[in-house]
Amino acid sequence: MPVIHTEDLKAYYVTKVYGVERTIQAVDGVSLDIYEDEILGIAGESGCGKSTLMKVLFGMVKPPLTIMDGRVQYISDRTTVDISSLNPAALRSIRWKDISYVPQGSMSVLNPVRKIRKTFQDFMGTHQKLSGPKEFQQVVGDHLRSLGLPVDVLNAYPHQLSGGMQQRVTIALATILHPRVIFADEPTTALDVVVQRGVIQLLKNIQKEHHNTVVMVTHDMAVHANLTDRVAIMYAGQIVEEAKTRDMFKKPLHCYSKYLIGSLPRIGDKAYRISAPGNPPVLNDPLPGCRFQDRCPDCSDRCCKETPPLREVEEGHKVACFRVFDEMGVS
Ligand code: ADP
Ligand code: MG
Repeated sequence: MPVIHTEDLKAYYVTKVYGVERTIQAVDGVSLDIYEDEILGIAGESGCGKSTLMKVLFGMVKPPLTIMDGRVQYISDRTTVDISSLNPAALRSIRWKDISYVPQGSMSVLNPVRKIRKTFQDFMGTHQKLSGPKEFQQVVGDHLRSLGLPVDVLNAYPHQLSGGMQQRVTIALATILHPRVIFADEPTTALDVVVQRGVIQLLKNIQKEHHNTVVMVTHDMAVHANLTDRVAIMYAGQIVEEAKTRDMFKKPLHCYSKYLIGSLPRIGDKAYRISAPGNPPVLNDPLPGCRFQDRCPDCSDRCCKETPPLREVEEGHKVACFRVFDEMGVS
């Protein structure tokens, strides 16, 4: 059963530049099911709309970001709610307890002039009634220990911690109420490779223990290969391919996925791999047809006129590409 369901979701940035209205179609027709007990990866180059999609899924939509169409449903045993239509109070009631968010850069969560303890106290005070300091120490201490973090981080200011430790503390904060869904946006991007591994392992352990859902956004395909169960590849505001991670890496179908996976460095591989030439298109005025057309080696006339829909071509493997449809006999 999906926990998050989106249908033809469109979320645009509507801005005015020198009095001229400009619309950036950052998320443009995303239909996606995210399941219980899975780690779903969202991949794609910078500027493809990954963070915008996360913001919408978490209900963090404020101008200039506007939901133009579609919906986002959060499904639990108790209810199904449309996240995009919840009022602030209703949103507060599901945030952190049901759905939580690890943002890009921990410093937006950790207050630089407050000790970590204070941040946890504020957070717990708003979201959970605790009887007093003793219970606080117990609950937070247990949680930190279960994540393998030293309890005395509580006595530190954020700047006294390393980048990796700050990110782990942010994850501890985002998971302390045992949410069913955790959205993590590039949580490892600013970290060096060794520290990255620790943070990824931490997320993996949390998911394994609590069987919740982790949505992991990163442009780093190596992280997807190591962490996720399923991966969705975004290009220019749309999902172009979705599959089990194993299938995606074994047999990517969309040319964009091939480029992303092909540009992964491999052990013993001395050749410099060229990734897809060019850049993602500017999203204020996309060309008609497939958005990848100008970077695609297999582009045909049809691709410049019609937008390929996302279709299931093998079990659990979806792709949006006319060439693949032809090759696989999907009409
Ligand atoms: P990603 O996370 O994949 O790098 P984003 O979701 O951050 O992509 O950005 C998608 C598009 O939306 C980009 O073209 C970006 O420039 C634009 N964008 C992001 N934030 C804003 C904003 N606050 N105002 C206007 N445009 C924005
Ligand atoms: Mg981003």
